[in-house]
Amino acid sequence: MAKYIFITGGVVSSLGKGIASASIGKLLESKGLKVTLIKCDPYLNVDPGTMNPFQHGEVYVTDDGAETDLDLGHYERFTNAVLGKDNNITTGKIYHSVISKERRGDYLGKTVQIIPHITDEIMKSIKKVAYGRKIDVVIVEIGGTVGDIEGLPFLEAIRQLRLEMGREYAINIHVTLVPYIKAAGEIKTKPTQHSVGTLREIGIQPDILICRTEKPLTKEAKEKIALFCNVEDDAVISAIDVNSIYEVPTVFRKEGLDKRIIRLLNLKCDDRDLFDWEEAVLKRLNKPSEKVTIAVVGKYITLQDAYKSIYEALIHGSIANDAELVIKKVDSEDLEKEGSERYLKDVDGILIPGGFGHRGIEGKIKAVKYARENKIPFLGICLGMQTAVIEFARNVCGLNKANSTEFNKKTPHPVICLQEEQKKITAKGATMRLGKYNCRLRKDSKSNKAYKKEAISERHRHRYELNNDYRDRLEQKGLVISGVYPTNNLVEIIELKDHPWFVACQFHPEFKSKPDKAHPLFRDFIKASLGNATCLLK
Ligand code: GLN
Repeated sequence: MAKYIFITGGVVSSLGKGIASASIGKLLESKGLKVTLIKCDPYLNVDPGTMNPFQHGEVYVTDDGAETDLDLGHYERFTNAVLGKDNNITTGKIYHSVISKERRGDYLGKTVQIIPHITDEIMKSIKKVAYGRKIDVVIVEIGGTVGDIEGLPFLEAIRQLRLEMGREYAINIHVTLVPYIKAAGEIKTKPTQHSVGTLREIGIQPDILICRTEKPLTKEAKEKIALFCNVEDDAVISAIDVNSIYEVPTVFRKEGLDKRIIRLLNLKCDDRDLFDWEEAVLKRLNKPSEKVTIAVVGKYITLQDAYKSIYEALIHGSIANDAELVIKKVDSEDLEKEGSERYLKDVDGILIPGGFGHRGIEGKIKAVKYARENKIPFLGICLGMQTAVIEFARNVCGLNKANSTEFNKKTPHPVICLQEEQKKITAKGATMRLGKYNCRLRKDSKSNKAYKKEAISERHRHRYELNNDYRDRLEQKGLVISGVYPTNNLVEIIELKDHPWFVACQFHPEFKSKPDKAHPLFRDFIKASLGNATCLLK
């Protein structure tokens, strides 16, 4: 039977519970254990697919086409766990299922209530993930902060689960904040005491506390927290701020977190450590030999989380090239108003990420033009590919008014149009072309060189596609169609001849990149950009 680690958060949000969960997954995996991870999100949306980036940050897509919380991105980047729709449980999904059962008559005669019906459904959904699979440890992160009304059913469910499973099968870890008050020159433990107090009121006694802090916790501070929170001294882990999230597993290991978890859960595993990860990621991250500046031209660049996987994949590409990465975040609306030169003249590569809606589009098209004309390495992703096609159609093929029907339904040249299967769809939730699809690469293309094979599979999230009626005209002028979804001949990758590296794809390569295994397109994009860069670090 799989064992469970339940992770809650206290005091404030944004403590990095997702990174902490992913790092615990990494630590356990490095000891030969098989892990999987679940994120529980207390909001009422069935999934985050219908929320905008201001509400939610990035929507992360799994192979099986689930639109999920961005923490699943951290889980997949840190571990080898393959996640899917069952790994993200939301209040919306739980209620949806309970209410459907009620309508079907499954609870006939009963009053349907939060306890036990909602909590039972949560427990079932958590347990389902490991059923029939060889999983040693399931890490379950509960979103939100302890004390939130909407998180209560999840906390009640994990309380009951631990009771049902027994102490050796489930533990609770609480991630909390120990602030440093500059004026007093001290760290403060009271918020943590209160947060653990709230947890205990609802029947959960944490076994381990992960304390986020700016200053390392002294022995005395740890003892104080342990005493008032009712845990052993060495169960208080000091999680000091670090430069890179990829250092967190090492910080945890040095604090003895892995040993403690193994002891509490009585896990049988190897005594290996993080050697491979530290060699492949941290050493290279800390010793770059060159510097590369990449412009990301989008409309959500003020938000930290909107392009999370893209930023991470750029870091991975830089690690693979032993380079230090500088990301220049460019607002496409500013670029539209003030011109490309102002924002792009000093960058080594240009990336246009995915997106929806008309706002900022003309700025992105200008950025594509700048990359094409000035031979700056370019990577376009999803909407980034669509804008690249529009730019090429307008400025190279002479189809001045070319556009996507997403932005102008009446355009005389709909070079990007709605996919046939999308035309009859009206509902918005989980109805895009989602998840993994195969793609066949053209021999000797830049993509083929990057992947070193011809058959690939990548993740998607889009409704529009390159209009095949325009394919010949685009190709005649030098656009290379280098990747196609064979089943219905849908264009997946385009490239440019006579350009050092210009690749744009309809799918989202960023979702499959890892720090120790950079995605081939990101790796080669950074490599090409380094060819442009002049700055050697010495
Ligand atoms: N809005 C475009 C579409 O739906 C692009 C989507 C995206 O970039 N994820 O096709």
